[in-house]
Amino acid sequence: MLYTSTRGFNEQISSCMAVLRGIAPDNGLYMPAAFPGKQDMEALMSLSFKGMAAKLFTMFLDDFPDMEGIVSRAYDGRFDTEEVTPLRKAGDTYYLELFHGPTYAFKDVALSALPQLLVSAKQALSEGKETVILTATSGDTGKAAMAGFRDVPGTRICVFYPEGGVSPIQQLQMTTQEGANVRACAVRGNFDDAQTAVKRVFDRIVKEGVPEGLPVTFSSANSINIGRLVPQITYYVKAYADLLASGAVRYGDPVDYTVPTGNFGDILAGYFAKMLGLPVGRLVCASNDNRVLTAFFETGVYDRNRPFYRTISPSMDILVSSNLERMLYLASGGDTGFTASCMRRLFGEGVYTVPAGIREKLAETFSAGYADEAEVRATIGRVFREDGYLVDPHTAVAAAVSGRFRRREGGKEVPNVVLSTASPFKFPQAVLEALGESVPETEFQMMGKLSGLSGLPVPENLAALPFKEVRFGDCVGKDGLYDYVMEKVCR
Ligand SMILES: *Cc1c(COP(=O)(O)O)cnc(C)c1O
Repeated sequence: MLYTSTRGFNEQISSCMAVLRGIAPDNGLYMPAAFPGKQDMEALMSLSFKGMAAKLFTMFLDDFPDMEGIVSRAYDGRFDTEEVTPLRKAGDTYYLELFHGPTYAFKDVALSALPQLLVSAKQALSEGKETVILTATSGDTGKAAMAGFRDVPGTRICVFYPEGGVSPIQQLQMTTQEGANVRACAVRGNFDDAQTAVKRVFDRIVKEGVPEGLPVTFSSANSINIGRLVPQITYYVKAYADLLASGAVRYGDPVDYTVPTGNFGDILAGYFAKMLGLPVGRLVCASNDNRVLTAFFETGVYDRNRPFYRTISPSMDILVSSNLERMLYLASGGDTGFTASCMRRLFGEGVYTVPAGIREKLAETFSAGYADEAEVRATIGRVFREDGYLVDPHTAVAAAVSGRFRRREGGKEVPNVVLSTASPFKFPQAVLEALGESVPETEFQMMGKLSGLSGLPVPENLAALPFKEVRFGDCVGKDGLYDYVMEKVCR
């Protein structure tokens, strides 16, 4: 299968090359030149998570040898449950738990696979140079990427997080990560600043080439990499299979999914699943106070010129949702001129408007809503008291919004699956406050208290954090990334 840029750069490349490059030379995102058509998704229903993953990966990444091997190396022994992404019912809501990986956020699902895909792509393309991964993170990508790439031969990784813009535990998770080839660095600014700054480094490398004498290539572990998106399709299919197995649906019945959204990568994978033929009903895009996407789906106007809020769901504090670009490309029938002009406006005036036809196309599948901070806190409390289930603030955003989009079809309630993207133990202070509990002094006492209240054990890697050495403390201005990368990361 060949990949092309959403912005029209005149070149088609293999899926191995698309994974290796991450982003296209015109700054567009890679998409299949011809999207895989409807597949026999029912045939996947009886497979294990890994069985599904191998089949789904192959639909998009068809020139990778030994996909079973890649999938085994990605998931064997890395998740604390065989199921990888279990579905739990609490009250009348299904929670798709995506936080059973090494860093307790959904990004583990994709970032366990990406390093294996990258190494395999390098072998297939006989690329002998070291690959330097640069990634901006709103908190969870950074740690998951560091854990995934830790000591993976031929790779080196540096993640950039907004100074003061991630939770204390997220920061500690990154700054204590072991491995000879990993590094974390703070950026003065918010996530959008960090993301833009990393993009500028890539821009300059594309324009000027890699500095002479530096035997490396650059790539990204952000969800702009198609190798990040494809693995995420798997859990939409797995959740459907679990509903089928429990008798909650018959094959073909619609299932709605509510997705706590930031960069639009997670929910886009749901759209891919739908395009492959999975009976996805509606995809509900849930935002926090940074509700740029809610406004976009309601009005067709994407306007990043708005106040930026730091919320208790920091991984969704994003005003520039990178993967929406892929959705614009798909909704416009692959119109690269249209997609490129939207992106030009976004990075110029900061605002673009899509025509009514595109808005209607999006409305066929997507609904959107947001929950403010008070509602997020109230939801954490209500779900715990009424349903005995503890959710983290990101999941709570989705749980709150999903309640507004319940519907019936053919006389039956349509199941609504809330994607549960992080462990509540990653955000103990916010969760304790939401439960109306007093908050002890340290993060670790907070985790202990949360464990006592919920009866759940503190996740192993989080419990170990206070005993780990802090390895990274650098902080750079947003214009300092290029020099930092060349001088510190590449040396
Ligand atoms: C990254 C993240 C999100 C948002 O996912 P996107 O793919 O960026 O839309 C939601 N919740 C958590 C916990 C995250 O880490």
